[in-house]
Amino acid sequence: MTRANSHSGPPLAEAQAILTIDLGALCENWRKLRDHSAPAECAAVVKADAYGIGTEPAVRALFDAGCRTFFVAHASEGARVRAALGANDARIFGLNGLLAGDGIAEAFVLHGLRPVIGSLGELKQWLAHTSGRLPFALHFNTGMNRLGIELQEAGAARDMLRAANAQPELLMSHFVSSEVINDPLNQSQIDGFAHVREMFPGIAASVANSSGIYLGQRPHFDLVRPGYALYGGNPTPGLPNPMRSVVMLEAPIIQVRTIEAGETAGYNAQWTAKRRSRLATIGVGYADGFPRAAMNTDTKVGAQAVVGGVICPFAGRVSMDLIVIDVTDAPADSTVPGAMVELLGKTITVDDLGARANTIGYEILTGLGRRYHRRYVG
Ligand SMILES: *Cc1c(COP(=O)(O)O)cnc(C)c1O
Repeated sequence: MTRANSHSGPPLAEAQAILTIDLGALCENWRKLRDHSAPAECAAVVKADAYGIGTEPAVRALFDAGCRTFFVAHASEGARVRAALGANDARIFGLNGLLAGDGIAEAFVLHGLRPVIGSLGELKQWLAHTSGRLPFALHFNTGMNRLGIELQEAGAARDMLRAANAQPELLMSHFVSSEVINDPLNQSQIDGFAHVREMFPGIAASVANSSGIYLGQRPHFDLVRPGYALYGGNPTPGLPNPMRSVVMLEAPIIQVRTIEAGETAGYNAQWTAKRRSRLATIGVGYADGFPRAAMNTDTKVGAQAVVGGVICPFAGRVSMDLIVIDVTDAPADSTVPGAMVELLGKTITVDDLGARANTIGYEILTGLGRRYHRRYVG
């Protein structure tokens, strides 16, 4: 029963780092996306443990804020959302649809979930299992070539639905590169989707993820499906982030030492001190999902931390359980054992860390470790 002002993970005294999750900021982000997309409904994508922040606290906070439609990837995630919210009017869609094999349609029915159907085979399976009486979405492929019914198959899908006297609740597609405002694929996908909407008149429609919401075309239709932006990621890369930061990761310094110019730090001596340097060690590493690719070496620019208000670079490789930071420029009173270092927050964003670790903020969020003491605030 995780709520605001509660916690999970190891107790504070035993943890090497504190992950603070601001549910107030999460809800503010949802309201901002809702207001921007109105009159379209604003759903919440909460797959992958709500992008790493924790399914139960996230969906309860969002439901309290007014969100009524949730998207997960797997049926098992949908079951968790249903258990957290109870038998209320929340709609929960499973994006990965009905996997091949028996039992999955039963699981959707059992937990009150709606499949996002992405092939004619799945459609046949669902109509047979439910006699066409339970709600579902139809996902069309407009260019991602990942999941979805092909545009040329729309007529066949319509014939199957007519024969079963059934209708989808929602028509969907998904953008390939909505974070690239001028990518011509955005408009060609919107055009392909218009063709689907003509074939299924009167059915609610949805294509926009976080970045899609901010496209100039405003392809909001009846429902928008933000994920990343809810959790503080920037839906408009290259422009200021309209979202509030949701996760903060801090760790206390374990040890501090001074080394001479020419000495090195970390495995394989990949970082060399260019001057007499003070180094601080913290107990976070790649086993916590903090990417090893965030290493800062003599040949590669890596991640940074905020120490006493000063941005300080990492020194050398990220180990399994430890990171060394060059705190030479930080104030002396904030570079003592027990002083807190900020690894993620308002200054160092998930987008920043992702870029410095050759990945994206999405992977940073979904990798957030299990050894952190997690505090839910707001
Ligand atoms: C993950 C996902 C979303 C949310 O995307 P964000 O970029 O995180 O906003 C929306 N729709 C589908 C189909 C998805 O898979």
